[in-house]
Parts: sequence; C-alpha cells; structure tokens
Amino acid sequence: MTEPHDVLIVGGGLVGASLAIALDRLGLQVGLVEATPAGRMPEVFDQRNLSFAAATVNALTALGVMAKLRAPTGPIRRIHISRQGDFGRVRLDAAGYGRDSFGQVVVARDFGEALEARLAELVNLTRYRPARFIALDAVVAGMRTVRIEDDHGERELSARLVVAADGTRSQVRQALGIDAQQHDYQQTLLVARVRADRAPDGTAYERFCDDGPTALLPRGDRHWGVVHGVANEDADAVAALDEAAWLQRLQQHIGWRVGRLTASGERSAYPIVRVVADRLVAERAVLLGNAAQTIHPIGAQGFNLGLRDALTLAEQLAGAQDAGDQALLAAYAQRRHEDRERTLAFSDGLARLTSNPAILLKPLRSLGLVAVDAHTSLQSFLVGGAMGFRGDVPALCREEVA
Ligand SMILES: Cc1cc2nc3c(=O)[nH]c(=O)nc-3n(C[C@H](O)[C@H](O)[C@H](O)COP(=O)(O)OP(=O)(O)OC[C@H]3O[C@@H](n4cnc5c(N)ncnc54)[C@H](O)[C@@H]3O)c2cc1C
Repeated sequence: MTEPHDVLIVGGGLVGASLAIALDRLGLQVGLVEATPAGRMPEVFDQRNLSFAAATVNALTALGVMAKLRAPTGPIRRIHISRQGDFGRVRLDAAGYGRDSFGQVVVARDFGEALEARLAELVNLTRYRPARFIALDAVVAGMRTVRIEDDHGERELSARLVVAADGTRSQVRQALGIDAQQHDYQQTLLVARVRADRAPDGTAYERFCDDGPTALLPRGDRHWGVVHGVANEDADAVAALDEAAWLQRLQQHIGWRVGRLTASGERSAYPIVRVVADRLVAERAVLLGNAAQTIHPIGAQGFNLGLRDALTLAEQLAGAQDAGDQALLAAYAQRRHEDRERTLAFSDGLARLTSNPAILLKPLRSLGLVAVDAHTSLQSFLVGGAMGFRGDVPALCREEVA
C-alpha cells in the first residue's frame, strides 16, 4: 500500500480533473485514478460542444485552465429559443444584463487538452493511470481503502475521503450501496460541427420540434456546433444519412436563421438517460458530477453543475483537519441541495415540456415562451440558470474572485 492520501478522486473526466486542480491550491495530498492510459484522452473529451456558463468561465479562469486553451472559444452573446409551428419565441441578450456574454462554447477535446496541461503543473497530485477502480473496503481508523487494478495487477490505496467522479455508471456509487433513480428519455442526441452561409455571430439557437430539440451553438472556429435530438428508434437511420440528406434534415429543423447549411463533420450519437443518486455522501465518500446526477444535456447544465459540486467541496475542505469528517460532508450535501434540485428541475422540465408532441400542449407551450419573452423576472430566472449563478454559488465562480 502507498502513502495514504487526504483525498482520492476516482475518475479523471471533466469534473474529477477540475477538482484535482482546485484542491492543489489547498496543499492536500490528492490521488487521481483514471482508467485511460497516460498519453490518451478519456473518451468523454470528444467533439461534443460544451456551453460553459459565465460562472464556469470565471472559475476555470481563476484555476488557470482557460489560459491553457489553445483553440478559440465562442462567446454566447444572445440566446434565441423557438418552437417549430409555434408563434412564441424567447430572445435573451447578454447586453441587456450588462454583460458581454452569457458564457462560452468550448469543444470537449480542447478542454481535455487544457485540463491535461494544467494537471501536469500540479505539485501535490499523484496520478494512477491506467488504473480501474475495483472495490471499496470498510473504513478502518479514519481511512477508506480502495482497491484498484493497474498493469501490475490489483493494489490498495487509502484516503481520508474518496470522491466518486467516475461518471453516469459510477462503480464507486454502487460499491457504496447508494441507489440511483433512472429515467430513459428514449432520445438520442446527434452531435456534429457544421458550416453555414453565415458564420457564428455570438447567437445560440435552440429550436424545439415534436421529435426533439435542435441547437446551433456558436463555436470559436467559424463552425456551428449542432446538437440534434431524435427518438431512439430513428437514431440509426438518421446517423446513417449521407451528408446532403443530414444537412437537409437539420435545415428543416433549424430553419434558415443562419442561411444554408453547407457542410458537416462526423456525427457522434449519445443516448440520453437521467440518473440521479439518492444521496450525495456516505462514510468518508462523496459523489460529484455525473456520478451524483446525470441530466439531459438540453439545458447545457451537466458539467456546469458538476463543477459547482467540485468547487463547493474544495471550499469545504479548505483548512479542514480531516478531509473525510462526517460533519463536513453533511455541510457539503446541504450546500449543494438548492442548486442541484433547481438545475435538475430546470433541465428535466425543459426536456419534457419541449419534446411532448401532445397537440393540446402546444398553445400552452407557446404561451410559456411568449410569457418568458415578456416577463423580465422569468427571463432573469432563465438567465441566472444559464450563467450558473444559482443558489449558494462557490466563491471562485463569482466575478470579483476570477
Ligand atoms: C452531447 C452532450 C452535450 C453536452 N453538453 C454540455 C454542455 O453544453 N454544458 C455542460 O455543462 N454539460 C454538457 N454535457 C454534460 C457533460 O458532458 C457532463 O456533465 C460531464 O462529462 C460530467 O463529467 P464527469 O467528470 O462527472 O463524468 P465523465 O466526464 O463521464 O468522466 C468520468 C471519468 O471517469 C473515468 N472512469 C469511469 N469508470 C472508472 C473506473 N472504474 N476506474 C477509473 N476511472 C473510471 C472515465 O474514464 C472518465 O474519464 C453534455 C453531455 C452530452 C452527452
């Protein structure tokens, strides 16, 4: 067994890697277990387009990650939401809120490279990769023992606190005996980058159709990031369309707001499920990010929420004598409650409201969109969520700190 860690993070994806960076400032001895070998990026750092809320941009700037991005990001200055066949629409303009942008579009692959560059600079971090989490043993003398498997076989690590950042199918969550509520949206999201007559100008378009949502996000590389939701039974057929038919389908869904769609890159497909853990903490263990809650990507909230999990935990750990102290973990769970509940309700509500084809709902949905366009308080709610300033916001997310 190696030297015990203060904190052992299982999963070096978006949230686990961000937490390791945030903890390094505290001088804690941190271990990071990741199944993907050194020199390769975990699969999650793919071509998906991530909308970073303003709060996320603030925090990643303060943590030195934004400065490591080598590719340009795409500012989101305006958000345009509409529904096919309805008269209502919502237009949100960052300038109306005294801001330059609501957030930034970052390609997950570029973000992975930036995180990796920042991780390489950390002084208190021990990395175990490729290493897979296998099992947890009982807590003995204030330490959790974790069994991992690497190229040399099975070995044991110990820590005052084990963090499950191992994603939707979290094995750590299972080993802790924490149940999760699951819902299959029966929807698949197809993601690609496309070219259009008009280059991105800072507007993000969300368009809701009976068979699912479609979004065009303004990337920083003159392409639009497209996210196209289809019913599961249609997903294979849509994924197999040739480029011309695929572009035609997108055009039908998104309309002509950015002119003609002229070219598309490769498509990736993501079946969409919601997985929500029954609780966030156990004895000397905590769940973060997708391991704690995997939500519909429609509201672009998943990583933004997971980062706030990580930063809140880092705040609780600052100055703590014992990183796995039960009162500290209880305080953490308490602090995450409001943001988590509201973000889950927001994303799930948006997904259900906008994908239910029941004809009777249509006028209500239009009214909803018109109401949002007209009422500043509702707009403020949407914008507050989009920018990530919801509930008990970690200090690094706030402007004055970044
Ligand atoms: C199409 C799509 C678009 C999205 N767009 C947005 C967006 O615009 N904005 C936003 O905020 N969010 C978005 N999300 C959500 C975002 O991708 C997730 O919230 C985020 O990836 C969660 O990060 P995580 O670190 O919790 O989990 P993951 O990123 O899944 O990382 C888990 C890590 O754990 C490792 N791992 C798993 N099991 C083990 C094991 N046994 N041992 C060791 N390591 C293990 C994996 O290799 C991986 O590196 C989107 C998601 C999708 C699918």
